[in-house]
Amino acid sequence: MNVLVVGGAGYIGSHCVRQLEAAGHRPVVLDNLVFGHRSAVSAEIPFYDCDLGDPEAVGKILREESIELVMHFAAFAYVGESVTEPRKYYENNFVATLRLLETMLDNGVKKFVFSSTCATYGEPDTLPMVETLPQAPINPYGQTKLDVENCLKAFAHAYGLSFAAFRYFNAAGAAEDGSIGEDHNPETHLIPLVIDAATGRREHIKIFGTDYDTPDGTCLRDYVHVDDLSRAHIAVFDKLNEPGTGCFYNLGTGKPNSVREIIDAVEAVTGLKVPVVEDERRAGDPPALYADSSKAQQELGWKIRYTELKDIIETAWRWHKAHPDGFDD
Ligand code: UDP
Repeated sequence: MNVLVVGGAGYIGSHCVRQLEAAGHRPVVLDNLVFGHRSAVSAEIPFYDCDLGDPEAVGKILREESIELVMHFAAFAYVGESVTEPRKYYENNFVATLRLLETMLDNGVKKFVFSSTCATYGEPDTLPMVETLPQAPINPYGQTKLDVENCLKAFAHAYGLSFAAFRYFNAAGAAEDGSIGEDHNPETHLIPLVIDAATGRREHIKIFGTDYDTPDGTCLRDYVHVDDLSRAHIAVFDKLNEPGTGCFYNLGTGKPNSVREIIDAVEAVTGLKVPVVEDERRAGDPPALYADSSKAQQELGWKIRYTELKDIIETAWRWHKAHPDGFDD
């Protein structure tokens, strides 16, 4: 299938492009390279450097490349910034996505796969988290993703759009061969920061809160390998053949790991000591978030290949060793 991957030069998008190729599909990448990296996408793949909210440019790509399905990974994802600069988040994550959906409908493209987030749930009352939990985001980032989810439901009902929205837990790791991986600027995610602290690129890792009501006092998260996430996006294709269908899936391993466990695992994998500073809690961090992803496993036949934290971190470490400064461009 001809698939337009919006945000295909970003972290999850670029891994998905690889998985699409491996599964025999034909990915076409659209990325404005604000956060994406040109070298994250191989030169043989059609690449368009443009904005997803530009109906003329996007419409032309949809027609000329005979696109049948759009996957959308392009979003601003700094939770703290979404609180201080919500305009930016509503504009980029919601308004631009609406433009993209309109352009798709205007050009007869009616299959859509959307990157949503467990942040749409806010602070869950029960764990592990199932898809039917109430959605009450606690920051504009989560709210803009939920707003798109709601928009998708209405568009499915009214216009026959078929869609899947995946609520990711903590995407982690890198391609098995270490050729592509995580490279954010600024980096705020735990695993790359801990690796940087291990190698001395950063002085230390700050643990945000050691007094949570968790086994070791630090936050629990569900770290899921980026290639496992990507494979779910392809496993859902058959579901989208029925016009007007919409589905939501949590994607996580279901295993909670604490911040301290991540640090220990990085030390074990790298053989290096990680300097640690215990710090205050970070505002807006729920103590524990982990998925019940049995719906994706049962309905899509989604299989989690990276079930061990150590194996996920091995891939991140391989990427880091090969590319200590990240991508060239
Ligand atoms: N975290 C931390 N120190 C850091 C960055 C993150 O202790 O420098 C913690 C953070 O409080 C959270 C977990 O690591 O409990 C994962 O954070 P990350 O920002 O990677 O992802 P999030 O869960 O916020 O999406």
